[in-house]
Formats: sequence, C-alpha cells, structure tokens
Amino acid sequence: MVSGQTQCHLANLNDACQLHTDVIAPFRSMQKSAAKQGIDLQVASGFRSYERQLAIWNTKVSGEKPLLDGQGHLVPFDRLSDVEKIFAILRWSALPGCSRHHWGTDLDVWDAAAVSAGYQLQLVPGEYQPNGPFYKLACWLDEHAEPHGFVRPYAEDKGGVAPEPWHLSYVAIAKQFEVQISNTFVKKILDNASLKLGGVVKDNLDEILERFICQASQR
Ligand SMILES: [Zn+2]
Repeated sequence: MVSGQTQCHLANLNDACQLHTDVIAPFRSMQKSAAKQGIDLQVASGFRSYERQLAIWNTKVSGEKPLLDGQGHLVPFDRLSDVEKIFAILRWSALPGCSRHHWGTDLDVWDAAAVSAGYQLQLVPGEYQPNGPFYKLACWLDEHAEPHGFVRPYAEDKGGVAPEPWHLSYVAIAKQFEVQISNTFVKKILDNASLKLGGVVKDNLDEILERFICQASQR
C-alpha cells in the first residue's frame, strides 16, 4: 500500500483519478467551497502506481527526456556522474516506491475555470505565481487548504524536492504512511526492482531519505 504496489486503499474520484478512500469526501468538500469563489478545483494527478513511477524514473535515467535544474535550466545530463544524475532526477521525480502519490493522499491541483478548454497544463511554478493563471487558486489554498485538512509538503525549496505549489497532501492519512518509510523499507523495494541506477541509490540512501523524502514530513 505504501509503495504503490496495491490499490485496495483507493476509490475513484472520477474516471481519470483515484484517491485514498478517506480522501474523496474531504476533497469534494474543499472543491465545493472553492466553487463558491469561482474556482473549478480539479486534480491533474492523484494516485500513481509503483509501475508508473518506475517507468518515469527509468526514462529519466536513460536521459531520453530533457532534465531541468532548480532554475529551470537544462541539465547537461551526459556530463553528470551517476550520483549527480540521481540527485538531479530526485529534484523533480520521486524514487519509485517512495512517491507520496502512491498513498492516494496526495494530489496535484489546478483551476479549470481560470483557463480555456484546450489549455495545456504544465505544472510549473510560473502558472501559480502572480502573473500565472492559477495565482487565484494558490492564494485561495494559502487560506483554505488547511481548514479542509490539506497541506502543501513541497511549498518551499528546502534543498530537496523543487517547490510544487500544486501538490496537496491530506495530512491526517498521509501521516500514517510517512511513518512507514525507512531505510529498511526502501532497501527491500530496491532489492526487488528493475530500477536503473538502483545500486547508486542504495549507496546514497540515507541522504536521499533525508533530503527528498523525510523533509516533506517535517511540518
Ligand atoms: Zn504531486
């Protein structure tokens, strides 16, 4: 359940999105109160399976897709060492088995009322900043996410995961998953995985856990 390898903890929010069974009602309630302010709160990504995250990770390690640094500049992937590669990837993509999206408690949100029907959602910070289409949503969430039980674990750049103003976490349930992540837990997943650069991940596991996984739990 924690590592995204089972789905019994999930329910359908709609055809395209699954969330933890206990997160559906709180999300719908938040969606309703956003609607009163003219915000059409929608989920771009809720539950993500282990296999999906593994595919994302392996594509990134192969260098098939461009990789950006914290400032949005292109990273010269071919010139990086293997250790540098995994740390560059972890800025934007979770280690398979350790994504908060596996839990169904975490979701990426946007405002469908703020853009036209064919809008291509990018999920970049600029969309949620003062001149971006989702700034109104970002401000609304500042005030109203927590009373609905949702927090933003990646609101600030603490040197780990890059800021994600669109990422919400239903904290009461997420906490139950957070405590299950440990060095032993991750090693077990890595032992069974066809994860590219898995050995390098193992060698750097303590730092990875500290910077990219545990930091989001420290509120
Ligand atoms: Zn997210």
